[in-house]
Amino acid sequence: MAREAILAIDQGTTSSRGIVFDTDGTILTTSQREFRQIYPQSGWVEHDPEEIWQTVVTTSREALEAAESQGYEVVSAGITNQRETTIVWDRKTGEPVYNAIVWQDRRTADWCRELKEAGHEADITRRSGLLLDPYFSATEIAWIFDHIEGTRERANTGELAFGTIDTWLLWRLTGGAVHATDATNACRTMLFNIHDQCWDSELLYQFKVPQSILPEVRDSAAHFGTTKADILGKSLPVEGIAGDQHAAIVGQACFSPGMIKSTYGTGCFALLNTGNRPVASRNRLLTTVAYRINGQPTYALEGSIFVAGAAIQWLRDGLGLIDNASESEALARELDSNEGVYLVPAFTGLGAPHWDPNARGAMFGLTRNTGPQHVARAALESVSYQTQDLVAAMAADANDPLKSLRIDGGMVANDWLVQMLADITAIPVERPTVTETTALGAAYLAGLQHGIWPSLEELQSHWHLDKQFKPAMPAEEREHMISGWRDAIARVLGRQP
Ligand code: ADP
Repeated sequence: MAREAILAIDQGTTSSRGIVFDTDGTILTTSQREFRQIYPQSGWVEHDPEEIWQTVVTTSREALEAAESQGYEVVSAGITNQRETTIVWDRKTGEPVYNAIVWQDRRTADWCRELKEAGHEADITRRSGLLLDPYFSATEIAWIFDHIEGTRERANTGELAFGTIDTWLLWRLTGGAVHATDATNACRTMLFNIHDQCWDSELLYQFKVPQSILPEVRDSAAHFGTTKADILGKSLPVEGIAGDQHAAIVGQACFSPGMIKSTYGTGCFALLNTGNRPVASRNRLLTTVAYRINGQPTYALEGSIFVAGAAIQWLRDGLGLIDNASESEALARELDSNEGVYLVPAFTGLGAPHWDPNARGAMFGLTRNTGPQHVARAALESVSYQTQDLVAAMAADANDPLKSLRIDGGMVANDWLVQMLADITAIPVERPTVTETTALGAAYLAGLQHGIWPSLEELQSHWHLDKQFKPAMPAEEREHMISGWRDAIARVLGRQP
C-alpha cells in the first residue's frame, strides 16, 4: 500500500510553494515559483491574482507528482498564505475586479488616520484585536468599491465575492463551489469579532462593507471542500487553512500558554500563545486567533519587528562589510563586548511596541576604535534587543511567565545570534530540526482533520529539537546591555534617555 502524504500549499508574499510532507512531518518534495510585485504608485503594492493562482497550480502539481512518483499517495491538502492581502472577484465569471491589494500597501493611510483622529480606534481594537492600519483588509476592500466603477452596486446585489488569498485559492481549487476561510485569516480583515468569532456588523458598517461578499468562517482544521480533479491531476480534500504566522505557531507545536514562536527573516514576527484568553494589549501588540480547532479558538498576542535580517542585508549591500550574511557571525565573535556601540535599525520606522513610522535608524557610541566587527555585532544585537522589547510587552500584557521561545527563519542559522537572543531575553531558545514551520503547520492542520494524527498532543511529539540555547549571561551584564539599548531607542524617538 502506498504511504500517505499531505500537500501544503504555501502562498507567500514573493513566491508560491508546494511542499509534500510524509506522516512524520518530514519534507518529501518541494516546488517554488516567484511572481511579480506590482508597484503602481509610491506606497502601493499589488499582485496579479491570476499569477498567484497559476504559480500555486504549477508548484502544487509538481510537488504532488514528484511525491507520488516516489510511491506516496497524497491524501489531503492544507493552505497557508500571506495574510490580509485582499481580492474581490465576480462570483459568476471568477474574474477579479482589481489586482490583489497586498498587506504592505499604504493607499488607505489617510483614511485610517482620519478614523483614528475621530476616535474610532479603541472600539475597532476591542472588537477586532487589531490597530487601525492600512495593513488589514477592511479599508482596502472599501477602496476597491470606492474606486472601481460599479463594484459597490454589484457587491450590494450579491454579484461579487471577497477573499484573502486562502479564500481565493479555495474558490478556484473547488471550481467556484466553496466560498470559505478560516478564523485566523478572518481575524486579519478588521471585520471579524475575535470574541464572538463571527463577522461584526458594527465593523462592516464602519468600513462600508456589505455582508454578502464575505466568506463563511470555519475552523482551521475543517473540511473546506474538494479540489476539481483536472486542476492538480487528482481530486484532494482541502482540510487545513491558516495564515502564515498562525500556521507557523502550529508547525512549531506552540500549543500551551506561555510558548512563543518567533520567525527571523527580513523582519520578525512573534506570537505568544495565550490559550483561550483573548488578551487585550496595553502595549500596542495585536490580539489574534492563533488557530481554531473543534470550534475552540486559541488566542495569541502578536508583535512584529520591521528590520531583523534586513540589518544584515544592509551590512552586505549597503555598507559592503560582508560578502554574505553568515560572515556576520565570525565578525561579531571577534569582540568580547559591544564596547558601547548600538545600532537602532529603524530604517522604515519602528514596529511594536514603539510604533513610530517616522523614526529613522542611528548608531551610537562610536569611537576611533569602532570597526566592522562593532557594526556587525551591533546589527545582530539589535535583533535580540528588539525581541526583548516584544517579549517584555507580551509578558506585561499576558501577566504570565513566558516558557520558551521557538525560532525559525533564515537568520537562526547564526548560533551567535541565537545565544544572544537567549541571553538578552533570559528565556530558553529552541531551534527545531524542521524550520519550514509555516508549510508544516498547514500540513499538520490538514492531517489532523484527515485523521492522520489524532490530536495536537500527538503533534507535539513530532516536533524535534535541533538545539536549545540556555540563557547564560550574568544578570548585571544583561541589564547593562539592555539599558544601553533603552538609551539608544529613547534618542531615536527624540526623548531624553
Ligand atoms: P524572508 O522569508 O523574509 O525572505 P528568510 O527566512 O529567507 O527571509 O531569511 C533571510 C534573511 O536572513 C536575510 O535578511 C539574511 O540577511 C538573513 N540571514 C541569513 N543567514 C544569516 C546568518 N547566518 N546570520 C545572520 N543573518 C542571516
